[in-house]
Amino acid sequence: MDEAKEFIGIIGAMDSEVERYLKEATINQTIQWDIFTLYEAQLFGKDVVIVKSGVGKVFASMLCERLIDEYKIKAILFTGVAGALAKDLNIGDVVISSDCIQYDMDVEALGFSRGTIPYTKYRNFVSDPNLRKLAMTAKLERNQIFEGRILTGDQFLTKKETDQFTYLIQELKGYAVEMEGAAVAQVCTLNKTPFLIVRTISDKADGTALEDFTKFLPIVAQNSFVIVKTILQNLP
Ligand code: SAH
Repeated sequence: MDEAKEFIGIIGAMDSEVERYLKEATINQTIQWDIFTLYEAQLFGKDVVIVKSGVGKVFASMLCERLIDEYKIKAILFTGVAGALAKDLNIGDVVISSDCIQYDMDVEALGFSRGTIPYTKYRNFVSDPNLRKLAMTAKLERNQIFEGRILTGDQFLTKKETDQFTYLIQELKGYAVEMEGAAVAQVCTLNKTPFLIVRTISDKADGTALEDFTKFLPIVAQNSFVIVKTILQNLP
């Protein structure tokens, strides 16, 4: 690795979330680490490291910390799909993170508000304003781009959970729900690394979430790519 180079880290949880990046990138080197492959590449004139983390907070955290430790990382972009919580979202729309909370961090029994990481000041992790601004300049042909709070937990949510977990919208003011964002946000915040979570809506975390997720995943993951492309092209 060239020590002087600054990289943008691009993380996705699933193949369909990273495959377009790998197709468009010029790959210079691949590094294998257990089940993970890190791709050092050039994409839209920027040096990037692309990796598929796998699903869930632990894998996402591991990969994010690894990128920050091994490379001179300018920013981390997480790209993928999510379930909608806000009613104004349609499948294919993109939510970029204003901030992220782990909705399954719950130590209310000891007096901590939901999402608060006990004995710390941390609850919501705020994304980089410059990355947010750049993301909002992107144009999608058929869908809209929204900015909102992304909630993260190690569970795929369908109607059963969202009916039960009324706090997701009422208390936590969640806009979209997924399984990695707040983990990446927490790792980046503690490392003082700018980050943005870019999520295309694959389902509405409702009764048809599983069918919708399976049906739309391959198509809608592309919309996140358009946003990340805009960011890469416009970052100094
Ligand atoms: N069996 C699936 C598992 C995917 S889990 C597979 O084919 O691999 C769902 C993934 O999409 C997670 O990475 C999560 O971040 C995101 N996601 C999309 N819709 C979601 C929802 N309704 N609830 C939670 N995560 C969701």
